[in-house]
Amino acid sequence: MDKPAGKVYLVGAGPGAPDLITMRGAEVIRRAEVIVYDYLVNAEILRLASPTAERIFAGKKGGAERAFDQAEINRILIDRARAGRLVVRLKGGDPFIFGRGGEEADALAAAGVPFEVVPGVTSAIAAPAFAGIPLTHREHGSFVAFLTGHEDLDKDPATSLPWDELARAAANGRGTLVILMATARMRSSLTRLLAAGLPADTPAAAVQSATTSAQKTVLATLGTLAEESARAGIAAPAVIVVGESARMRTDLQCFE
Ligand code: SAH
Repeated sequence: MDKPAGKVYLVGAGPGAPDLITMRGAEVIRRAEVIVYDYLVNAEILRLASPTAERIFAGKKGGAERAFDQAEINRILIDRARAGRLVVRLKGGDPFIFGRGGEEADALAAAGVPFEVVPGVTSAIAAPAFAGIPLTHREHGSFVAFLTGHEDLDKDPATSLPWDELARAAANGRGTLVILMATARMRSSLTRLLAAGLPADTPAAAVQSATTSAQKTVLATLGTLAEESARAGIAAPAVIVVGESARMRTDLQCFE
Protein backbone atom coordinates (compact mmCIF):
# COMPACT_ATOMS: atom_id res chain seq x y z
CA MET A 1 0.00 0.00 0.00
CA ASP A 2 1.17 3.54 -0.68
CA LYS A 3 2.51 5.43 2.30
CA PRO A 4 0.08 8.25 3.08
CA ALA A 5 1.03 11.70 1.82
CA GLY A 6 3.24 13.65 4.17
CA LYS A 7 2.52 17.05 5.57
CA VAL A 8 4.42 20.07 6.82
CA TYR A 9 3.49 21.96 9.99
CA LEU A 10 4.90 25.48 10.21
CA VAL A 11 5.09 25.76 13.99
CA GLY A 12 5.82 28.76 16.19
CA ALA A 13 8.10 27.74 19.05
CA GLY A 14 7.36 30.86 21.09
CA PRO A 15 9.79 33.54 22.23
CA GLY A 16 12.30 31.52 24.25
CA ALA A 17 10.91 30.00 27.43
CA PRO A 18 10.08 26.41 26.47
CA ASP A 19 6.65 26.44 28.13
CA LEU A 20 5.48 29.28 25.92
CA ILE A 21 4.85 26.95 22.97
CA THR A 22 1.19 26.15 22.29
CA MET A 23 -0.31 22.76 23.16
CA ARG A 24 -0.92 22.11 19.49
CA GLY A 25 2.69 22.96 18.67
CA ALA A 26 3.94 20.54 21.32
CA GLU A 27 1.59 17.85 20.07
CA VAL A 28 2.82 17.96 16.44
CA ILE A 29 6.44 18.02 17.61
CA ARG A 30 5.81 14.78 19.52
CA ARG A 31 4.44 13.22 16.32
CA ALA A 32 7.08 14.64 13.98
CA GLU A 33 9.32 12.39 11.89
CA VAL A 34 11.44 15.31 10.73
CA ILE A 35 12.10 18.60 12.54
CA VAL A 36 13.72 21.50 10.73
CA TYR A 37 14.51 24.16 13.32
CA ASP A 38 16.00 27.63 13.65
CA TYR A 39 18.64 28.98 16.02
CA LEU A 40 16.17 30.86 18.23
CA VAL A 41 14.33 27.64 19.12
CA ASN A 42 14.91 26.57 22.74
CA ALA A 43 16.68 23.18 22.87
CA GLU A 44 14.23 22.06 25.59
CA ILE A 45 11.46 22.09 23.03
CA LEU A 46 13.35 19.71 20.75
CA ARG A 47 13.37 17.23 23.63
CA LEU A 48 9.63 16.78 23.13
CA ALA A 49 10.40 15.05 19.84
CA SER A 50 10.83 11.33 19.37
CA PRO A 51 14.45 10.18 19.66
CA THR A 52 14.07 8.73 16.17
CA ALA A 53 12.94 12.00 14.57
CA GLU A 54 15.39 13.42 12.07
CA ARG A 55 16.64 16.82 13.33
CA ILE A 56 17.88 19.36 10.81
CA PHE A 57 19.35 22.68 11.98
CA ALA A 58 18.46 25.35 9.43
CA GLY A 59 19.33 28.35 11.53
CA LYS A 60 21.43 31.37 11.17
CA LYS A 61 22.42 33.84 13.79
CA GLY A 62 21.87 37.50 12.97
CA GLY A 63 23.58 38.22 9.66
CA ALA A 64 25.84 35.16 9.94
CA GLU A 65 26.12 32.32 7.44
CA ARG A 66 23.12 30.03 7.33
CA ALA A 67 23.35 26.30 7.35
CA PHE A 68 21.12 26.38 4.24
CA ASP A 69 19.74 29.10 2.03
CA GLN A 70 15.98 29.59 1.80
CA ALA A 71 15.64 27.61 -1.44
CA GLU A 72 17.44 24.64 0.16
CA ILE A 73 15.19 24.78 3.22
CA ASN A 74 12.09 24.82 0.99
CA ARG A 75 13.49 21.84 -0.93
CA ILE A 76 14.12 19.88 2.29
CA LEU A 77 10.53 20.49 3.46
CA ILE A 78 9.03 19.55 0.10
CA ASP A 79 11.17 16.44 -0.43
CA ARG A 80 10.60 15.04 3.06
CA ALA A 81 6.84 15.63 2.86
CA ARG A 82 6.67 14.03 -0.61
CA ALA A 83 8.44 10.99 0.86
CA GLY A 84 5.39 10.69 3.13
CA ARG A 85 6.88 12.09 6.31
CA LEU A 86 5.37 14.31 8.97
CA VAL A 87 7.58 17.38 8.94
CA VAL A 88 7.66 20.14 11.54
CA ARG A 89 9.25 23.40 10.49
CA LEU A 90 9.93 24.96 13.89
CA LYS A 91 10.56 28.68 14.03
CA GLY A 92 11.13 31.14 16.86
CA GLY A 93 8.11 33.16 17.99
CA ASP A 94 5.34 33.09 15.41
CA PRO A 95 6.15 31.64 11.99
CA PHE A 96 4.48 34.48 10.10
CA ILE A 97 6.13 37.38 11.93
CA PHE A 98 9.44 38.18 10.20
CA GLY A 99 10.38 34.54 10.07
CA ARG A 100 10.12 33.81 6.35
CA GLY A 101 7.23 31.51 7.20
CA GLY A 102 5.24 33.24 4.47
CA GLU A 103 7.85 32.33 1.88
CA GLU A 104 7.89 28.73 3.04
CA ALA A 105 4.11 28.50 2.94
CA ASP A 106 4.22 29.90 -0.62
CA ALA A 107 6.75 27.30 -1.69
CA LEU A 108 4.72 24.46 -0.14
CA ALA A 109 1.50 25.66 -1.76
CA ALA A 110 3.23 25.97 -5.15
CA ALA A 111 4.58 22.43 -4.78
CA GLY A 112 1.14 21.09 -3.84
CA VAL A 113 2.39 19.87 -0.45
CA PRO A 114 -0.24 19.90 2.31
CA PHE A 115 0.68 22.16 5.20
CA GLU A 116 -0.74 23.76 8.31
CA VAL A 117 0.34 26.73 10.38
CA VAL A 118 0.51 26.53 14.16
CA PRO A 119 0.83 30.11 15.43
CA GLY A 120 3.26 30.94 18.20
CA VAL A 121 3.69 33.65 20.81
CA THR A 122 5.75 36.22 18.96
CA SER A 123 8.65 37.95 20.69
CA ALA A 124 7.04 41.20 19.51
CA ILE A 125 4.37 40.62 22.15
CA ALA A 126 6.19 38.47 24.70
CA ALA A 127 9.28 40.68 25.10
CA PRO A 128 7.32 43.82 26.01
CA ALA A 129 5.01 41.74 28.22
CA PHE A 130 7.88 40.21 30.16
CA ALA A 131 9.44 43.64 30.54
CA GLY A 132 6.24 45.05 32.04
CA ILE A 133 5.27 47.11 29.00
CA PRO A 134 1.61 46.91 27.94
CA LEU A 135 1.57 47.46 24.18
CA THR A 136 -1.88 48.97 24.28
CA HIS A 137 -3.53 50.92 27.02
CA ARG A 138 -6.85 52.69 27.25
CA GLU A 139 -5.20 56.05 27.85
CA HIS A 140 -2.33 55.80 25.40
CA GLY A 141 -1.49 53.31 22.74
CA SER A 142 -4.52 52.78 20.53
CA PHE A 143 -2.47 50.81 18.01
CA VAL A 144 0.68 48.71 17.80
CA ALA A 145 2.93 48.34 14.77
CA PHE A 146 5.59 45.64 14.31
CA LEU A 147 8.55 46.87 12.23
CA THR A 148 11.70 45.26 10.95
CA GLY A 149 14.86 47.11 11.92
CA HIS A 150 16.69 45.26 9.22
CA GLU A 151 14.89 46.13 6.04
CA ASP A 152 16.48 45.16 2.76
CA LEU A 153 18.30 48.33 1.74
CA ASP A 154 17.67 47.60 -1.95
CA LYS A 155 13.93 47.54 -1.39
CA ASP A 156 11.76 49.76 -3.59
CA PRO A 157 11.12 52.97 -1.57
CA ALA A 158 7.48 52.77 -2.64
CA THR A 159 6.99 49.62 -0.57
CA SER A 160 9.55 50.16 2.18
CA LEU A 161 8.91 51.25 5.79
CA PRO A 162 7.04 54.58 6.04
CA TRP A 163 9.21 55.99 8.86
CA ASP A 164 7.65 59.44 8.61
CA GLU A 165 4.09 58.16 8.86
CA LEU A 166 5.00 55.78 11.67
CA ALA A 167 6.66 58.56 13.67
CA ARG A 168 3.69 60.85 13.15
CA ALA A 169 1.23 58.12 14.07
CA ALA A 170 3.05 57.15 17.26
CA ALA A 171 3.48 60.73 18.51
CA ASN A 172 1.54 62.05 21.52
CA GLY A 173 1.13 58.58 22.95
CA ARG A 174 -1.26 57.51 20.22
CA GLY A 175 0.45 54.25 19.50
CA THR A 176 3.37 51.93 20.14
CA LEU A 177 6.10 50.82 17.74
CA VAL A 178 7.85 47.48 18.22
CA ILE A 179 11.03 46.99 16.21
CA LEU A 180 12.38 43.47 15.66
CA MET A 181 15.84 42.61 14.37
CA ALA A 182 16.65 45.81 16.10
CA THR A 183 20.24 45.68 17.29
CA ALA A 184 22.49 45.92 14.22
CA ARG A 185 20.93 49.14 12.98
CA MET A 186 19.45 50.43 16.23
CA ARG A 187 20.96 53.88 15.98
CA SER A 188 19.80 54.36 12.42
CA SER A 189 16.21 53.20 13.16
CA LEU A 190 15.95 55.55 16.14
CA THR A 191 17.45 58.40 14.12
CA ARG A 192 14.87 57.89 11.38
CA LEU A 193 12.10 58.32 13.95
CA LEU A 194 13.75 61.40 15.49
CA ALA A 195 14.30 62.93 12.06
CA ALA A 196 10.64 62.32 11.29
CA GLY A 197 9.68 64.43 14.29
CA LEU A 198 9.01 61.93 17.06
CA PRO A 199 10.18 63.80 20.20
CA ALA A 200 13.52 62.76 21.70
CA ASP A 201 11.93 62.34 25.13
CA THR A 202 9.48 59.66 23.90
CA PRO A 203 9.95 56.63 26.19
CA ALA A 204 11.82 53.75 24.52
CA ALA A 205 13.04 50.39 25.75
CA ALA A 206 15.22 47.55 24.49
CA VAL A 207 14.49 44.01 25.66
CA GLN A 208 17.02 41.29 25.03
CA SER A 209 16.59 37.49 25.29
CA ALA A 210 13.08 37.96 26.63
CA THR A 211 11.42 35.19 28.63
CA THR A 212 14.77 33.45 29.25
CA SER A 213 17.11 33.65 32.25
CA ALA A 214 19.27 36.01 30.16
CA GLN A 215 16.52 38.62 29.79
CA LYS A 216 17.80 42.17 30.05
CA THR A 217 15.88 45.44 29.66
CA VAL A 218 17.06 49.00 29.16
CA LEU A 219 14.53 51.78 29.64
CA ALA A 220 15.51 55.14 28.15
CA THR A 221 14.12 57.60 25.62
CA LEU A 222 14.16 57.76 21.85
CA GLY A 223 17.11 60.15 22.11
CA THR A 224 19.18 58.07 24.54
CA LEU A 225 18.31 54.42 23.92
CA ALA A 226 21.12 53.67 21.44
CA GLU A 227 23.70 55.03 23.88
CA GLU A 228 22.20 53.31 26.93
CA SER A 229 21.84 50.00 25.10
CA ALA A 230 25.47 50.08 23.99
CA ARG A 231 26.49 50.78 27.57
CA ALA A 232 24.39 47.87 28.83
CA GLY A 233 25.74 45.56 26.13
CA ILE A 234 22.35 44.85 24.54
CA ALA A 235 22.80 42.29 21.76
CA ALA A 236 20.60 40.16 19.50
CA PRO A 237 18.00 38.88 19.89
CA ALA A 238 16.33 42.06 21.09
CA VAL A 239 13.23 44.11 20.37
CA ILE A 240 12.82 47.85 20.81
CA VAL A 241 9.59 49.39 22.04
CA VAL A 242 8.94 53.07 21.33
CA GLY A 243 5.96 54.95 22.74
CA GLU A 244 4.36 56.23 25.92
CA SER A 245 3.51 52.68 27.02
CA ALA A 246 7.25 51.98 27.53
CA ARG A 247 7.12 54.41 30.44
CA MET A 248 4.86 52.04 32.36
CA ARG A 249 7.67 49.54 32.76
CA THR A 250 8.78 51.29 35.93
CA ASP A 251 5.63 50.23 37.75
CA LEU A 252 4.84 46.96 36.06
CA GLN A 253 8.09 45.04 35.66
CA CYS A 254 7.96 41.79 37.59
CA PHE A 255 10.02 39.19 35.73
CA GLU A 256 13.68 40.27 35.88
N1 SAH B 1 9.25 34.95 14.18
C1 SAH B 1 9.97 35.56 15.29
C2 SAH B 1 10.83 36.73 14.84
C3 SAH B 1 11.94 36.32 13.90
S1 SAH B 1 13.01 37.65 13.51
C4 SAH B 1 8.96 36.00 16.35
O1 SAH B 1 7.74 35.99 16.08
O2 SAH B 1 9.36 36.32 17.47
C5 SAH B 1 14.18 37.55 14.83
C6 SAH B 1 13.99 38.71 15.78
O3 SAH B 1 13.01 38.40 16.75
C7 SAH B 1 15.22 39.06 16.59
O4 SAH B 1 16.12 39.86 15.87
C8 SAH B 1 14.59 39.84 17.74
O5 SAH B 1 14.24 41.14 17.34
C9 SAH B 1 13.30 39.08 17.95
N2 SAH B 1 13.41 38.09 19.04
C10 SAH B 1 13.27 36.77 18.92
N3 SAH B 1 13.37 36.17 20.14
C11 SAH B 1 13.54 37.17 21.03
C12 SAH B 1 13.68 37.22 22.46
N4 SAH B 1 13.68 36.10 23.21
N5 SAH B 1 13.84 38.43 23.05
C13 SAH B 1 13.85 39.56 22.33
N6 SAH B 1 13.72 39.57 20.97
C14 SAH B 1 13.56 38.40 20.34
